[in-house]
Amino acid sequence: MSELNPIPSGPAAPRLTRQVRVVHGARVVTIGGDAPVRVQSMTNTDTADALGTAIQVKELARAGSELVRITVNNPEAAKAVPYIREQLDRMEIDVPLVGDFHYNGHTLLREYPDCAKALSKYRINPGNVGQGAKRDTQFAQMIEVAAQYDKPVRIGVNWGSLDQSLLARIMDENAQRAQPWSAQSVMYEALITSALESAAKAEELGLAGDKIILSCKVSGVQDLIAVYRELARRCDYPLHLGLTEAGMGSKGIVASTAAIGILLQEGIGSTIRVSLTPEPGGDRTKEVVVAQEILQTMGLRKFTPMVIACPGCGRTTSTVFQELADDIQSFLREQMPEWKKRYPGVEAMNVAVMGCIVNGPGESKHAHIGISLPGTGESPAAPVFVDGVKKATLRGDSIVADFKAIVLDYVETNYGKR
Ligand code: SF4
Repeated sequence: MSELNPIPSGPAAPRLTRQVRVVHGARVVTIGGDAPVRVQSMTNTDTADALGTAIQVKELARAGSELVRITVNNPEAAKAVPYIREQLDRMEIDVPLVGDFHYNGHTLLREYPDCAKALSKYRINPGNVGQGAKRDTQFAQMIEVAAQYDKPVRIGVNWGSLDQSLLARIMDENAQRAQPWSAQSVMYEALITSALESAAKAEELGLAGDKIILSCKVSGVQDLIAVYRELARRCDYPLHLGLTEAGMGSKGIVASTAAIGILLQEGIGSTIRVSLTPEPGGDRTKEVVVAQEILQTMGLRKFTPMVIACPGCGRTTSTVFQELADDIQSFLREQMPEWKKRYPGVEAMNVAVMGCIVNGPGESKHAHIGISLPGTGESPAAPVFVDGVKKATLRGDSIVADFKAIVLDYVETNYGKR
């Protein structure tokens, strides 16, 4: 018999980076090094509305965001930051807050020290810290505050606000080449140079190297992959991944997943954000759910029990199994804040909800718990498998309630603290 090489699977080992600690009180979120890939999010409330912002931060944190960024764009917002922190502490939400600064961050951080202290990390966009000679001074002022209060920073370059003088310099350099690069390559180089030169400058100014995270956000999938591959090759700072302006609905999810997934598979990225545009009045926590699902479906982390459901077809024409799959997934996610404390390890559980007997029993046997609902014309009975063994057959109007009871019993028996 010929020898077969085993088929490789799974992502590449993460590229080794420095590790950054983001701290609030006793809560320490490590980023990079051997830490798991972290999930971040950002509020879309007016930060000056301290209560409204604290409530949204709480929702994002409860959904699983490990860091939450808030805009700090004017004195009212800066004044509100300590109150937001206070409200969160009162609600026992210890998620670290990141302040997002553009244009006036140097002023706000110096004039509102309580804001500077209440934040656990600062995001600085080197393209938005000022023009000409002011640029270096204002950047230095922000770094000095970070060093003074021992706060890490993310140097977050964005191609929508790229430092134009740096871009002009890179274009001039390119013009000197015997074979000039394409405009796209020049843009990539400008993004990467902006991040790396700003990081070097921050270290020269006294910020420790293990206080710096980098990002270079663009809105195209192939652009993001190209930029981050090169950035990861040239430095060992932890990298924050995300498409900027990913878009709405399925387009935003698909584009973010394609870009982030490919980079994570190559071991690139220590923290991610999925920048979805919510529907009007939509739920901001969706971006956290999608980020978690990217990491969990790639096998990088486990956050919440997963529902495996078939897509349905002509063999099942009722909506019962769709409703059950949706109901069970929402039910499991809603339980997680409490289950995390009471049932350690439950996030690894799989639940299968299948539409008929073609793949239903087989898929159900692979899951921890699985139910195979009757397809069109099949006998109105739903076999339930627990750890691969048929345990019950559910019938009648109470199938959903009965199945949830079996799930709860399984969780209590297998993950309850003994
Ligand atoms: S399990 Fe049955 S209902 Fe679901 S997709 Fe397969 S054949 Fe169709």
